[in-house]
Amino acid sequence: MTIPDKQLAAVFHNHGNPDNVKFEEVPVAEPGENEVLVNIKYTGVCHTDLHALQGDWPLDVKLPLIGGHEGAGVVVKAGPGVNRLKIGDRVGVKWMNSSCGNCEYCMKSQETICPNIQLSGYTVDGSFQHYCIANATHATLIPESVPLEVAAPVMCAGITCYRALKESGVQPGEWICIPGAGGGLGHLAVQYAKAMAMRVVAIDSGEDKKELVKSFNADVFVDFKTDDVVEMVKEKTGGGAHGTLVLSTSPKSYEQAAAFARPGSTMVTVAMPAGAKLGADIFWLTVKMLKVCGSHVGNRLDSVEALDYVARGLVKPFYKVQPFSTLPEVYHLMHEGKIAGRIVLDLSK
Ligand code: NAD
Ligand code: ZN
Repeated sequence: MTIPDKQLAAVFHNHGNPDNVKFEEVPVAEPGENEVLVNIKYTGVCHTDLHALQGDWPLDVKLPLIGGHEGAGVVVKAGPGVNRLKIGDRVGVKWMNSSCGNCEYCMKSQETICPNIQLSGYTVDGSFQHYCIANATHATLIPESVPLEVAAPVMCAGITCYRALKESGVQPGEWICIPGAGGGLGHLAVQYAKAMAMRVVAIDSGEDKKELVKSFNADVFVDFKTDDVVEMVKEKTGGGAHGTLVLSTSPKSYEQAAAFARPGSTMVTVAMPAGAKLGADIFWLTVKMLKVCGSHVGNRLDSVEALDYVARGLVKPFYKVQPFSTLPEVYHLMHEGKIAGRIVLDLSK
C-alpha cells in the first residue's frame, strides 16, 4: 500500500471549546526507533479527550495537539529495531503510549505510573488522524475475532475499568457501585463487573442509560437526578457497597461515594472532574477503615486481558459509529452528558 505524505487530522492549537478543533492537512510522521506507523480505521472519543481540549487538568498538554487514544488500525510501516510487530498487524493505540521500561515502576509492571510516561492524544499526537505513531512495545495486538470498531472503545474505556475493578478488591457476590455507569467507561465497567460475578449498583440518569445498564444485567439502577443516591445505595446493598468505581464526571460523586461506602470498602478514583477534591470526612474514613485508591488505565497485560473478555463474548462495547468529521459535535454531546456508551469515529468518512 502507498502511504501518503500528507493526511487529514483533527487538531487544536489552543485550549477551549469544541469549535477550536480544526480539520487540517498535516504531514504523515515517520516511525522512529521501536515505533510503528498505524493506519487508524476507527477511534473512540473518551471524556479525557475533552479534558485535554479544555486544558482543565494540572498536567501540560502538547500544543498544537492531535487528540485521541482509543485508536484501532493496521500497522503499515515499522521503524528501526521493531521485532514484535509486523506490517499488516491489527493493533490498538492507547492512552499509555510508552514508558521508559527501566524505572522502579516499569520494573514492577506499574508502567502507568512511570515518571517518563508518554500519553497518546495528550503529550504526543494521538488517533484523531489517519496515520498515527505507536510504540511497538505498548501497542496492543487485537485478536482476529474482534472487529476494529469493537476494539476501539476497549483501548481506553475497557482497559481502565477492567484494571480499576481489580484494584477495588471486590469479590464475587459482593456489591460494586458505579457512578457514571451509562457512559463510555461505565457501560463497560458494568459488564466486566458482571463477568466477574459482582453485584452492580449502576448510577447515572435518564431512560436510555437505565435501559442500557439493565441490558447488561446491572442489579440496581439509581438515577442521580431524581433519587436520593446515598440512601438508596445503602438500602439496596444492605449497608453500602463493598467497592466503588467513580467514573462520573461530577465531583459530587466523590462526596456521595464516601458517604455510602460500606465499612472496610475501597473507593477507586478513576474519573478526574476538573479541580475535584476528596471531601471525605476524616473521622468516618478512619473509623469505617475506608481505602481510597487511584487507578490509571492499565498495563500491557491488563490490555490483553480486557480484549480477551470481548473476544470471549463476555463484554460487548455499546457504541454508535459516526464520521470522523463529527468530532466537534461529539464533544458537545459529551459535555452535556448525552452519550449512552461510546461514540466511535470512522476515519474513512
Ligand atoms: P462519559 O462522558 O462517557 O461518561 C460520564 C458519565 O457520568 C455520563 O454518563 C454522565 O451522565 C455521568 N454522570 C455525570 N454526573 C453524574 C453524577 N452526579 N452521578 C452519576 N453519574 C454522573 O465519560 P468517560 O469517557 O466514561 O470518562 C469518565 C471519566 O473518566 C472522565 O473524567 C475521564 O477523563 C476519566 N478517565 C480516567 C481514566 C483513568 O485511567 N483513570 C481513563 C479514562 C477516562
Ligand atoms: Zn480515555
